[in-house]
Amino acid sequence: MCAADRFRASGKFRVNANHKVLDAWLLVLCTGCGDTAKLTIFERAHVRSVRPALLDRLHSNDLTLVPELLQDPVLQHRNRVSLDWEGAWRLDTGGSDHLEQEVIDVSVRFAARIPLRPVRLIADACGLSRAEVERLIVEGKVVSAIRLTGKVSGDFTFTLKR
Ligand SMILES: [Zn+2]
Repeated sequence: MCAADRFRASGKFRVNANHKVLDAWLLVLCTGCGDTAKLTIFERAHVRSVRPALLDRLHSNDLTLVPELLQDPVLQHRNRVSLDWEGAWRLDTGGSDHLEQEVIDVSVRFAARIPLRPVRLIADACGLSRAEVERLIVEGKVVSAIRLTGKVSGDFTFTLKR
């Protein structure tokens, strides 16, 4: 292992069977040296305790299972990993008409539960700097039922008054 502590999914799984006991891992690749590492999905699980559908997906290297497992807090905790969402999201505003209006009500819908800072999203969406958005929040010109200064990963709405 090199000093890099970042990995990317390889898209492959490994399942070991020892009599009726199964271990399963998600294989990941070190971004530094390319070495393969393993994230434990389950260990020493009795074959009857594993859902057959899950086992099928593991055996067939089902790619859609990769993001499902990686977003599972249990797997993250067990393997002491977290997801790097940097650059993972994009904003679809459906045009720029809203930039002209004095008051806009915006609904933000998440296609995936990616934690992000509302300040950054609002800045991107409204053509403002983050400092401007922070000022507007302080001045009560950006209002929301959620706290806009932390991170969110689910749908929310906000109103912007210029
Ligand atoms: Zn490495």
